[in-house]
Amino acid sequence: MNPADCPSGVSVGSPPDVGAAGRGGVGHEVVFCPRRTICSPSLVSTTSSFCDGRSSSPAWVPVLNAATGAATAAAGREVAGVWQRPQQTLCKPVVVTGVGYWSGQENRVELRPAAAGSGVVFVREDLGGLRVPAVLANHVEAVSRTNLSVGTATVEMVEHVLSALAALQIDCCEIGLTAAELPGLDGSAQAYVEAIDAAGAQTVAGVSTPLRVATPLVVEDASGGRIEARPPTTAGLHVTYDLHYPGKPIPPQQYGGVMTPKVYRTDVAAARTFLPEEDARRLQEQGLGLTVTYRDLLIFGPNGPIENQLRWPDECARHKVLDVVGDLALAGRPIHADISAYRSGHQLNAALVAAMLAAEGSQQEPADES
Ligand SMILES: [Zn+2]
Repeated sequence: MNPADCPSGVSVGSPPDVGAAGRGGVGHEVVFCPRRTICSPSLVSTTSSFCDGRSSSPAWVPVLNAATGAATAAAGREVAGVWQRPQQTLCKPVVVTGVGYWSGQENRVELRPAAAGSGVVFVREDLGGLRVPAVLANHVEAVSRTNLSVGTATVEMVEHVLSALAALQIDCCEIGLTAAELPGLDGSAQAYVEAIDAAGAQTVAGVSTPLRVATPLVVEDASGGRIEARPPTTAGLHVTYDLHYPGKPIPPQQYGGVMTPKVYRTDVAAARTFLPEEDARRLQEQGLGLTVTYRDLLIFGPNGPIENQLRWPDECARHKVLDVVGDLALAGRPIHADISAYRSGHQLNAALVAAMLAAEGSQQEPADES
């Protein structure tokens, strides 16, 4: 991206020593839009970049299911086979910096190549390198964001970076942090997509096998939120979000699509987080988000976004899909399912991951022969 394309400043440069031995090559630093930058979504690239000679993302391939003998898929529709693709990691380290919405703390986020099978792991560099794997077992309850914790190490608002990595099929990645909270950036995952593209992707020796939803699952909460997972109608993840907040200034809207890397790049990554003005005021009265302005995310007043413009009429629903993709990444591997969400938030999304993992576990338990 040319810095001139992004008026408030995106800069790309190469610091003398970002890449360390074994981290995948020459260091490469990308300092992304400071939190007051509003970039056009059209700046998101539409194709992945690779450093291993490929020109496209690895495709899911059905392999023989020993239990059923099924080995084929018709017209991309999932059958009773097992789907696989090579795992991917980054080609080299890349950095995104910014300020956390809640804490106001600056965080230097370094996305680094990682070994096959290692998954996505946060590393608190400021705490001597304490590691927090991005898996459901480390999820902790938090308001309006997804947080993880292992021992004394916490990582906050992880959903946007996890969403970008999952959607672009980066299975293995170490994420070095200098503070607990991930940067808010412009409220979207666009900066992470740009960073991943700047790093490039490569396959590693491991194979990725998705968590495939076999029977419908539904989780609901007391406030009317609901999220449902059904067996996939495509070889991948399809997410639909139905947004309806009665009495709030955000109009009802719906968005859905198959979360291929291409669809995610062009239709989802740049969708920004949002808040009704009254909720933003209440948070600031509690001493949270004190450095956040109307330009840092979408704050809705009675007449729409305040001092800001929508990138799509249904940008809020698109952002909720972005969040669902990030929260479902806590499964620790790709998910093949059709997801339908209605007023679902981070807690409910995590509960669905738990339900999917439990359902898969119960299917794999040997039959009781007693
Ligand atoms: Zn979000």
